[in-house]
Amino acid sequence: MTDMPPTGSPAAPASPAVDPAWAELYEEIADCPRCVLAKTRTQSVPGVGPSTADIMLIGEAPGAREDERGIPFVGASGQFLDELLASIGLSRDTVYIANVVKCRPPGNRDPEPAEIEACAPYLDRQIAQVNPKVIVTLGRFSMARWFPGQSISRIHGEPKREGGRIIVPMFHPAAALHRGDLRSVIHADFAKLPAFITEAGIGASE
Ligand code: SF4
Repeated sequence: MTDMPPTGSPAAPASPAVDPAWAELYEEIADCPRCVLAKTRTQSVPGVGPSTADIMLIGEAPGAREDERGIPFVGASGQFLDELLASIGLSRDTVYIANVVKCRPPGNRDPEPAEIEACAPYLDRQIAQVNPKVIVTLGRFSMARWFPGQSISRIHGEPKREGGRIIVPMFHPAAALHRGDLRSVIHADFAKLPAFITEAGIGASE
């Protein structure tokens, strides 16, 4: 599910400083011509957050406001994501956030398989750079990378452990903007995260 188009005019958060470790990759993504989304984007939306974060959240694709700002999750679903992070004592300054595709699909349609495949090397490099201990997939497109063939309705909040990481599938925050009943479900899934963070040893030596 792609980020929702902006509703109303929420105050735009200040653009965060970019970790210098991202400079080369972000420049490459800014000029990327690898799929058709390059033709319709205002700008690409590479990701946001420290390259050394222990927790990485992976969404689907930029929406209208993200396409305007060049930052992921700054629209209505981003406000809900901030609320979810705050509910477990986290802020977006301490996590790394990216999407499966870095450019906005026109009309907020789903990304096509060819677009996901073309963009995958960027996500691979982001995961390699951050080397997170916990990955939270937001929505079915990022979920599919680690849980192929699964249904988000069936496995949300149920993690798998792979290669020294904990991968936790969650609904995309925008889902709660379409279906109000999912809001409490997503909150409940986020409430499980602190236990996984502890299990991963995050903060143990800090
Ligand atoms: S979505 Fe990814 S592969 Fe397609 S143009 Fe944007 S950065 Fe390149």
